[in-house]
Amino acid sequence: MPTYAYRCRECTESFELTRPMSESGDPAVCPGGHRDTVKLLTTVALTGKAAGSGAPSAPSAPSGGGCCGGGCCA
Ligand SMILES: [Zn+2]
Repeated sequence: MPTYAYRCRECTESFELTRPMSESGDPAVCPGGHRDTVKLLTTVALTGKAAGSGAPSAPSAPSGGGCCGGGCCA
């Protein structure tokens, strides 16, 4: 369901409503209870995947240190 942004002209509060597209033109009541609101540019904020992260974390290499890893120190 898309999210629509509105602004109240009485308290200048901006708020968003998630409502069906068929009701996007309906009057919205601000959280403060005012009815004098205007619809802002439609922000299509469809819920979905966030932007993918970067490279997958590489497996950390075994600790270096030379011979202690190979058993020659033991
Ligand atoms: Zn208001």
